[in-house]
Amino acid sequence: LSERIGSTLDRVKGRGRLSEDNIKETLREVRMALLEADVALPVVKEFISQVRARAVGQEVLKSLTPGQALVKVVNDELVRIMGENREPLNFRGRPPVVILLAGLQGAGKTTSAAKLARHLMEAEKKKVALVSTDVRRPAAIEQLETLSGEIGAGFYRAAEGTAPKKIADQAMDFARKQHADVLIVDTAGRLHIDEELMQEVQDIHAAVEPLETLFVVDAMTGQDAARSAAAFGEALPLTGVILTKADGDARGGAALSVRQVTGKPIKFMGVGEKTDALEPFHPDRVASRILGMGDVLSLVDEVQSKVDKEKADKLGRKLKKGKGFSLNDFRDQLEQMQNMGGVGALLDKLPGAGKLPPGAASQFDDRTISRQVAIINSMTKEERRKPAVINGSRKRRIAQGSGVQVQDVNKLLKQFTQAQKMMRKMGKKGGMKKMMRGLQ
Ligand code: GDP
Ligand code: MG
Repeated sequence: LSERIGSTLDRVKGRGRLSEDNIKETLREVRMALLEADVALPVVKEFISQVRARAVGQEVLKSLTPGQALVKVVNDELVRIMGENREPLNFRGRPPVVILLAGLQGAGKTTSAAKLARHLMEAEKKKVALVSTDVRRPAAIEQLETLSGEIGAGFYRAAEGTAPKKIADQAMDFARKQHADVLIVDTAGRLHIDEELMQEVQDIHAAVEPLETLFVVDAMTGQDAARSAAAFGEALPLTGVILTKADGDARGGAALSVRQVTGKPIKFMGVGEKTDALEPFHPDRVASRILGMGDVLSLVDEVQSKVDKEKADKLGRKLKKGKGFSLNDFRDQLEQMQNMGGVGALLDKLPGAGKLPPGAASQFDDRTISRQVAIINSMTKEERRKPAVINGSRKRRIAQGSGVQVQDVNKLLKQFTQAQKMMRKMGKKGGMKKMMRGLQ
């Protein structure tokens, strides 16, 4: 697919401005890409017309070909739509603040309830209580109870035969008595949208008055995601979306569909079955996944627009002067890699990357990078300058602050030492400049 886009892009090369005419063919390819990514058809149509409106008449910068300019418009538009109004969870209310999860059966509500609870406990230091109002599936309540036990969150268990709305009421009392900051309410789902389900979840909503009503949707459901999103969006005043099973979805189309249909931001992404497999949603990464922009053109484009040349020059100068490569520099590099999307592809382009130890590229997949950046962010200024001071208790603190294990902190420090060595070598040979030039 990226090849196809690449070849049409070549054809629109060499014209000063983007026009209806010279983007027509490429837009058709983009349309195909979106459909292949399983974006719902109405959403594709709307998106294409938005991109067309934005692109036509746009001047093509000297350093860019028209094709690159167009891809950038497409990419930016995807990122803009999916990232718009993205805000952290709302806790501005009297505790316990309620988060309600709704969605079809099997979407991942119960799992997400536990993931969210763990995230809030670890990253936000909240006291969290959980409750399941799913009285239909026999094991549903036990499922959440077990998960709550695993993560050490409070769990409210109602008496057998209590109605869902009543359970929610009682759970509010329970959470208040426990002085919980947050109550997460899990609900029943159905295989298909039906009146009874919608009525039930509406009743629960009215009973607990949540500050966040999150629509939980399976990323793998593609086209259906748009349909269920529309139904839940009509029934409930949604405040956001949790996109689950993103780990199994290479295409990412559901993200755009659900965003467009509900108009609500995707707040989190589920990336596995375990309770720690929850990530903030990264529109830029999903955008490049939807477009399949791992090709050379987009790489060059991304690099041109995103590598902060000043930072690179500064780092180069610093290395020349023989000054140390600090954890701050390492973090800057990691963030740049992240901005550029496919890091594996980038490493391939770097002169000297062949000298990296085997498996080095896989240390830098997007998820790992976010974690690495979070770890560095949890360090004090002193620690970043002088990693030698990081002893066992500091490691534990850093791990806790960034929601990882101590061994992850150790791993990061080891990688940093490796990077430092590499930088030292390059600094000596003046290789940094060469490397940056190689990138452009
Ligand atoms: P519910 O019916 O909406 O409560 O869905 P569950 O939370 O019970 O999840 C249904 C299935 O999807 C379970 O087997 C989960 O382990 C799985 N699941 C949920 N979220 C994710 C995810 O982000 N990634 C993967 N791979 N599986 C998930
Ligand atoms: Mg469930």
